[in-house]
Order: sequence, then structure tokens, then C-alpha cells
Amino acid sequence: MDGIEISALHKIYGKTPAVRGVNLSIEPGEFVVILGPSGCGKSTLLRMIAGLEDITSGTISIGDTIVNQVEPGGRGCAMVFQNYALYPHMTVAENIGYAPKVAGVSKLERHARVADVAAMLGLQGLLDRRPGQLSGGQRQRVAMGRAMIRAPRVFLFDEPLSNLDAKLRIQMRLEIKRLHRELKTTSIFVTHDQMEAMTLADKLVVMNGGLIEQVGAPTDIYHRPATRFVADFLGSPPMNFIPGRIGAEGRAVANNGLLLCADAFWELAPNTEIVIGIRPAALQISDFKALGGLPFDIEMQEDLGTELHIHGVAASQRVTMVRPADSPLPTDPFAVSIPARAIHLFRVSDGKRVDPHVINLPETLNGDSRWNAKQLLSI
Ligand code: ADP
Repeated sequence: MDGIEISALHKIYGKTPAVRGVNLSIEPGEFVVILGPSGCGKSTLLRMIAGLEDITSGTISIGDTIVNQVEPGGRGCAMVFQNYALYPHMTVAENIGYAPKVAGVSKLERHARVADVAAMLGLQGLLDRRPGQLSGGQRQRVAMGRAMIRAPRVFLFDEPLSNLDAKLRIQMRLEIKRLHRELKTTSIFVTHDQMEAMTLADKLVVMNGGLIEQVGAPTDIYHRPATRFVADFLGSPPMNFIPGRIGAEGRAVANNGLLLCADAFWELAPNTEIVIGIRPAALQISDFKALGGLPFDIEMQEDLGTELHIHGVAASQRVTMVRPADSPLPTDPFAVSIPARAIHLFRVSDGKRVDPHVINLPETLNGDSRWNAKQLLSI
């Protein structure tokens, strides 16, 4: 197994910078997912690792070797593409066995290896068919088989599931995960689909505008996004954002003057412009008049069977709340509150996260409207 080291990597097409200084360490055997919106440079990065794209500056090492000048065929990478890239006139067995055939592997050994790979991918019954006689999922499996038979040092996946329907995507996602557990080959998987990224990655890399925004374990990034961009990109329904500023005593105050969270403060200069983020499932129903309670006006509800998505307005912002379907909403007008431990705050100036100091309010005081902000701060 080989690791990959990328340092100060740039790619400029004419005058368009596509990758603008990427540094990334990939451990041997790791499954790394590069996630980002269309045009953020993720495919360019993958193609530079494969050797399909020249590097403007910087270095890429696979194992102990700098591969900048190594031809694609000599890098030990096998790539799986979105459009499958199968040979239409060849059978499944011929497609999978193509690389060993070109490499001069004997017919007998080739057959054995094709059979092994086909068994791993559940393609045994389809070996004599041509790609035109297969479903999208089966074609993608053949494309994976063609990569697997080469026993590469690194698998590179370029949005391989994008052409499949939703159900098949989930199935193939699980299959790729299972295969990685078995083969333990270092893998890099490029996608714009956050579910794919969250479920497949050992290490998640979020890109934006040719730069890496954040690298980490998927759950760490989900629970502690480093920037507003990352917070917005990960999560469905997306995180709610309420703009405001830092008020007295480091409190977060919405633009309409409402206190956003009673039990947290930030070490930021007064009047610093901020955005508060809160995940839809983290909003809590609170006393209508509680300190930090934001009156919530329901506009629309969607019942998804197991959960309700409740869309409305709080602190003059469109906000979505997710509740279990079996937990009914109060019938009277109600408020929502933002618990300090679920709050995300980002500076408007640079989009960066700033963590709060959380005050542990006594149970009896939390949400009690008789206490004002000044009294809370003296606790
Ligand atoms: P992604 O895979 O994240 O959608 P790409 O890596 O394909 O993004 O593209 C990154 C940027 O580089 C985009 O602005 C794109 O238009 C530009 N780009 C990609 N390939 C080329 C090319 N061959 N020539 C010129 N610009 C390109």
C-alpha cells in the first residue's frame, strides 16, 4: 500500500487558475473523498494525480516517488470514470481482462483473474454480454472490475456514480465501501454529493475555488465546520443561517435585535458582523418568551414519514426545523431556541468559525424569562 503526498500544487489553464496551492497527505490504504461544488477543481486535482493533466507547479508523490514526470501508465493508478469508458465491441470478460491481455498475461491466468474479479463484483452471469446489454449499475461494476484487475497502487474515482439512479447509487456506494474493506487499496473518490462523501470517506477533503477549505473525518467536519462554506455545503436540509453582530458582553444578536443564544458568548469585538449557523435538527422548541427564544412562524410543513421538515421564519430569517414525525408541534404559537452546544458562529469578514464560551446555566434558569442578559452574565 502506498500513501500520496501533494504539496503546493497549482494548475492554471491559460489564465484560469483551477487548483491554487493544494497540500494534502493521504495515508496508505486510506479512502479519501474530495467533495466540492462543480468547478472547484476536484477533477483537475484527480487528473493531475493520474498523470492525465500537466502540473503547473508543486509536487505529487506516490509512495516514495515524485511522479510529476512519470507517464500515467507508470504511476500504478487505475481510474474509474463517470461515463464508464468501456469498449462497446468487447464482452464483459474481454473488457475486464483487457489490461492483463495487453500486459501479456497468459490466457489461463487471465481467465482465472477475470473470474476472481467478476465474483467479487457479482458479474459472473454477465461475462459474455457486451456493455450495450447491461444496466447502468452493471456497466459501472464492469468499469470497476477493469480497474481492480490491475491490482493498482491507487484507485481514482471521478464521480463514478453520477449517472446512476438514486437507489443504485446507494447500492454501489455500499459495494465500493465493501470492496475497499477487502482490498484496502489507497483510494481517492471525487464527488459533489455530500451523502456519498460522508458515507465513504475515512478522510474528507472539502474544496472551494481551487483551494482546500477543510480536511478531516466526515463527522468532525459535519459537527465542527471550519468555515461557513463548509457548514453550508454539508447537511440536508442545509444549516440555517441567521445574520447578526456581536452585542454587549460578547453575545450574538440577530440583526432584528433578538438575543440568539442565552448561554454562550464570544471573544470578539463589539459590532463584529457574524452569521449564526444552526442545523435544522438542533433547533429546540422553547418557551415563547424565554431569553434567547425566537418566535417561530410556520409557513409550510413537509411530512417525510419518519421526520417532519417545518419551514418558517425566526429572527426575520427563513429557517427550517427537523422534528421526528411522532413528536407533534405545540398547537399555540411557539418559539425556538438555539442551544449553545449546537451553535456555529462564523465571522462575515473571512467566513471562519469562532467557537463560543458556553455558560452552564442552572436548569431552573435556562429559558426563564424573568432573567435578563445582565443577570445571566453575573452567574
Ligand atoms: P470540478 O471537477 O470541481 O467540477 P474542474 O477541475 O473540472 O472542476 O474544473 C476547475 C476549473 O478549471 C473550472 O473553472 C473549469 O472551467 C476549469 N477547467 C477545467 N478543465 C479545463 C480545461 N481543459 N481548459 C480550461 N479550463 C478548464
